[in-house]
Amino acid sequence: MSVPEPAGGEEKQAKEVEDAEKYSFMATVTKAPKKQIQFADDMQEFTKFPTKTGRRSLSRSISQSSTDSYSSAASYTDSSDDEVSPREKQQTNSKGSSNFCVKNIKQAEFGRREIEIAEQDMSALISLRKRAQGEKPLAGAKIVGCTHITAQTAVLIETLCALGAQCRWAACNIYSTQNEVAAALAEAGVAVFAWKGESEDDFWWCIDRCVNVDGWQPNMILDDGGDLTHWVYKKYPSVFKKIRGIVEESVTGVHRLYQLSKAGKLCVPAMNVNDSVTKQKFDNLYCCRESILDGLKRTTDVMFGGKQVVVCGYGEVGKGCCAALKALGAIVYVTEIDPICALQACMDGFRVVKLSEVIRQVDVVITCTGNKNVVTREHLDRMKNSCIVCNMGHSNTEIDVTSLRTPELTWERVRSQVDHVIWPDGKRVVLLAEGRLLNLSCSTVPTFVLSITATTQALALIELYNAPEGRYKQDVYLLPKKMDEYVASLHLPSFDAHLTELTDDQAKYLGLNKNGPFKPNYYRY
Ligand code: NAD
Repeated sequence: MSVPEPAGGEEKQAKEVEDAEKYSFMATVTKAPKKQIQFADDMQEFTKFPTKTGRRSLSRSISQSSTDSYSSAASYTDSSDDEVSPREKQQTNSKGSSNFCVKNIKQAEFGRREIEIAEQDMSALISLRKRAQGEKPLAGAKIVGCTHITAQTAVLIETLCALGAQCRWAACNIYSTQNEVAAALAEAGVAVFAWKGESEDDFWWCIDRCVNVDGWQPNMILDDGGDLTHWVYKKYPSVFKKIRGIVEESVTGVHRLYQLSKAGKLCVPAMNVNDSVTKQKFDNLYCCRESILDGLKRTTDVMFGGKQVVVCGYGEVGKGCCAALKALGAIVYVTEIDPICALQACMDGFRVVKLSEVIRQVDVVITCTGNKNVVTREHLDRMKNSCIVCNMGHSNTEIDVTSLRTPELTWERVRSQVDHVIWPDGKRVVLLAEGRLLNLSCSTVPTFVLSITATTQALALIELYNAPEGRYKQDVYLLPKKMDEYVASLHLPSFDAHLTELTDDQAKYLGLNKNGPFKPNYYRY
């Protein structure tokens, strides 16, 4: 039987061949690039696609900024080692610059080693750095950033600098800064304003120091959580006249951008990195699959075989957690509000239940919904003795921790990030990281996964910075599929993975360009 050619294949192919030529700078790493990386003037129209995140209703307000989300276990330096606020200290780096505010500049050497260790597993980002640093696609870019300041983000920041950008950086979270890494960045000349254990006031002060500078005005924003963007909107709206674009990583920040866009207040183009395939699948699914067990083990030494665990939410994060727990022999229940995700959980072999049905019997409760009050005081009251409760979602609202701050309950800090909450009858619930993100609070996150997100952020910045006027309107955009594929291809050599190439005939049959994109935008992976 002969298989018919897909209708319209000819026409589609012709258009995509043209597009592929425009994209030729993204030759896959498995081939030597034919020409130097080019970023401007040769990109196709990108997909503008308001995703589910944009439509999702999140209740988190600006005032509940990321400052309350998590602390980093990855910092080896204790912020309580001296009581003097970094704001009060006069510090200079070895070149005499004091254009930074960190805990202790003397930790720079130690931080540099941490950055070098991270670089080992971020070869794709380093490869992008090497490929593009001749061309300097970010020359003239003045990037103000607000992200977690860890060894991995330092590799991103230094990549942006190597590509020509000037950077000023603050932390998107009061706990997550690796002090030694911030010191290393400051020593290398990055204007970084961040330390572990900032107060809420410090948090906004640091952001302000990045934006409010004599003789320096940012033209790009890289944000994680939307606080920096919010600050600029609130305090320095005129800065937006010069801003070419915002790149936002988090669910919350992206949601805020869509809100601004809906209200007609978004005055520059924004790139939603959170919903790019490479971020969603790898950061959410694979990262959580690896780090959920690490976080639980480090804090509680729990053995998972035969334990009953309920995972609230079967999105990407929930799927990752469930897969890891199942692999260790735990009995896993899932709660869901969405019938599609619930059905997926069923097909993957999990019992889908209401939380109230299993709350008395489970040994561990994990929230991954991005929602609020998923675990209420009523649930907490009904848990059995020694039940472990933790959260893997972005904000600390999933477990109603506030409801546990009542006089009849006693809190006992038994380890760093581990509280026993004790009921009058002696029952103890083991609360991890006070309901903040478990993996980022109590374990480390795989560097390789962060490399994927960081590479995506770098490409999004390069694209927005170099886009000709008019390509992007004042709206929220998704990274084009071709760039997602490029990010993935940059990471394949780490596995010595060899891609199969389409033959001409196969490409024609599928109506694809041989160099991609290989899937339509609606493909779900
Ligand atoms: P997602 O939207 O794919 O999944 C969330 C799921 O929760 C959805 O299927 C939704 O139907 C379900 N849900 C919502 N309310 C619920 C409720 N009351 N009870 C049960 N289920 C409910 O999102 P995701 O990518 O899985 O991310 C989930 C959260 O984790 C977000 O807050 C995200 O920012 C965060 N996140 C954490 C990490 C990490 O490293 N810990 C990494 C990425 C994302």
